[in-house]
Amino acid sequence: MQLSFTGRRRNPRRMSNLNNQLAAELERARAAGLYRSLCPIASAQGPRITLDGREFLNFSSNDYLGLANDPALKRAVVAAVKRYGVGAGASRLVCGNIAPYDELEQRLARFKGREAAIVFGSGYAANVGTITALVGEGDVVILDKLDHASIIDGARQCGATIRVYPHKNLKKLESILAQSQRFRRKLIITETVFSMDGDIAPLKEIVKLKDRYGAWLMIDEAHATGLFGKHRRGLAEALGVEKRVDITLGTLSKALGCAGGFVVGSQTLIDYLRNRARSLIYSTALPPAVCAAASAAVDFTMSADGHKRRDRLWRNVRQMHDGLSAIGIQTESNSPIIPLIVGGETAAVEMSQQLFKHGIFVPAIRFPTVPKGKARLRVTVTAAHAAKDIQTFLKELDGLSR
Ligand code: PMP
Repeated sequence: MQLSFTGRRRNPRRMSNLNNQLAAELERARAAGLYRSLCPIASAQGPRITLDGREFLNFSSNDYLGLANDPALKRAVVAAVKRYGVGAGASRLVCGNIAPYDELEQRLARFKGREAAIVFGSGYAANVGTITALVGEGDVVILDKLDHASIIDGARQCGATIRVYPHKNLKKLESILAQSQRFRRKLIITETVFSMDGDIAPLKEIVKLKDRYGAWLMIDEAHATGLFGKHRRGLAEALGVEKRVDITLGTLSKALGCAGGFVVGSQTLIDYLRNRARSLIYSTALPPAVCAAASAAVDFTMSADGHKRRDRLWRNVRQMHDGLSAIGIQTESNSPIIPLIVGGETAAVEMSQQLFKHGIFVPAIRFPTVPKGKARLRVTVTAAHAAKDIQTFLKELDGLSR
């Protein structure tokens, strides 16, 4: 047998047909205000970023504790690169498990107060891999309407029946559970802080329902890890229900300032995921240096300085919320994620562009990330913003609405 690396000859008519169809679709997206493009930034993430040689105030990032460009994290990366190089080589199950992975997982388990942890290449991969490992045909996955795309994609891939309850609607959740007794496994999945609305899930009530109906509960604490609870473990800690949650997912990519995702829970759950989660088994591990940086981020988050940084974040969040209500803007947010709902997709893009002209970078979030007609500016506040940055933002925003 001979291997061929050339594949079939291209058919020029087919190619142009493909390009024509895709170009037409992109044109329709553009006309509807839904075209997406990348914005070239020449600096690190932080409260100020540089674009085209000009400085902008940045209200777009999930770097809530301002760790993405932190000197201690950068030192950890450099030391790990010197010792372990850049790439991981393959999946940890294939080419071996070097120290930074175990060190990070042990820290994450300690930080979250659970028996064990497992790290994935991204939060997206953690959701898809975990859901597809735990449930399949004959099971039911029950989702909040506003759950993140990575949860939806995991639910779609796993082969289980999918049921969706309106956002935070406990009555509907209960009626779905009551009608789901014939399924082998019932898995409820909710974000704790919703990524595009910044509001929080009624976790205490969800925990009661999952116990009453014998379901499993998986929570995605991507936007709560490092921010909520006495030990900054997340919303489940803040509401005193941590141990009643079966599967807890977090990311290293938001408050922890790095990249990657993780799950914490019982040792059995983690052993099971190591054996069954396809996005872990069939994907190259995170670069070791990213794990080293994430370990430094977890250490910082657990330290007294981390505590102070978190307090500073919440002061900033309060300043933003108070300032918005002073200019007549109310939101449902309970977190550093503050959606300013505009409605129309084109109008949201225009508003983002107006702020951009005034030196403020805040993205327009549109369908399909949020429902059609609910386009918004997604404002995020971080601990690294100064009080005057927030004042400037509020002044420019107020100027637009006059
Ligand atoms: N879950 C939620 C709630 C998220 O908002 C995100 C990212 N925006 C993810 C998971 C995926 O995490 P990552 O970016 O690390 O892939």
